[in-house]
Amino acid sequence: MMKDNILNVETRIQAACDRSGRKRSEVTLIAVSKTKPNEMLQEAYSNGMRHFGENKVQELVQKYEYLHNGFQEDVYWHLIGHLQRNKVKYIIDKAVLIHSVDSMRLAEQIEEEAAKRNLISDILIEVNIADEDTKFGVDGADIFHLIHEMSHLSHIRIRGLMAVAPYVEDPEKNREYFKKLRQLYVDIKTKNVDNICDGSNLDENASHGSKALENFDVLSMGMTGDFEVAIEEGATMVRVGTGIFGERDYSKAV
Ligand SMILES: *Cc1c(COP(=O)(O)O)cnc(C)c1O
Repeated sequence: MMKDNILNVETRIQAACDRSGRKRSEVTLIAVSKTKPNEMLQEAYSNGMRHFGENKVQELVQKYEYLHNGFQEDVYWHLIGHLQRNKVKYIIDKAVLIHSVDSMRLAEQIEEEAAKRNLISDILIEVNIADEDTKFGVDGADIFHLIHEMSHLSHIRIRGLMAVAPYVEDPEKNREYFKKLRQLYVDIKTKNVDNICDGSNLDENASHGSKALENFDVLSMGMTGDFEVAIEEGATMVRVGTGIFGERDYSKAV
C-alpha cells in the first residue's frame, strides 16, 4: 500500500520532470512523516525513502533516535515546521536542513548553537509567498535585507528558499506563487548577490559575506496537492506527506 503510494509519487515526479525538461536527480523527495508512527518510517525507508521531514522538534528527535538506533545511517532529517529559538539546540546536529528560518533572531540562535558544536548549519529562508496572515515566513520585500544580515553569520549557510503555498483544490492556482518564489530565488542567486552581500568594505565580516550564498541551490516548494506544478516551476525539493503515508490523524499524533 505505501509501496504503491511511493511508486505513484515517483512516477508523477518523473513525469513532471519530463514535461519541464528536467532531470529526476534535480528533485529531492522529502517524505513528510509528521504524526506517523516509527514503523511507517521504517516501511518508507525499506521502500527507498531517505529524506524525512518533520514539523515538530520533539517528534524529529524521537524518530531520529528510533531510526538511527536501528541500522540506518543514511537517513536525512529536515525540519520543515516553525522553529522556536529555545528548541534549536535539540535539532542543530540532527537536521541536515532547517527549512523554516524566518527571522534574524532565529538565525542568531542557530548561529550560536552551531558555533558551540563547531558545525555549519544549512538553512532555508521561509517566504510567505501568498501574503497569508495565517502563515509563517518572511515577506518577499524583506528578504534581501534579511539575507544581507544573515550573511555575516559564519556558522550558517543559506541554501535557498522555502514556501508553503495556500491550500487549494486546483493546483494550477498555486503556479503563480511557485513562479514568484522561483523568481525571487533567481534574483537572489544571480543579479542581486553582490548588492546583497558585499556590505561595506569597512565591515570586518565583509569577506565572509561574499561566500554566504555560494551554496544557494535549494528551492523547497510543493506538497501532496501541488508538487507536480512546483516541479514544473523549478522546485528542487518537494515535501510529500499524505501522498506517501495517507491522511493524518491528529488525534493520535505522537
Ligand atoms: C505537512 C507538511 C507538508 C506535507 O503536506 P501533505 O499535504 O500531506 O503532503 C509539507 N510541508 C510542510 C511545511 C508541512 O507542514
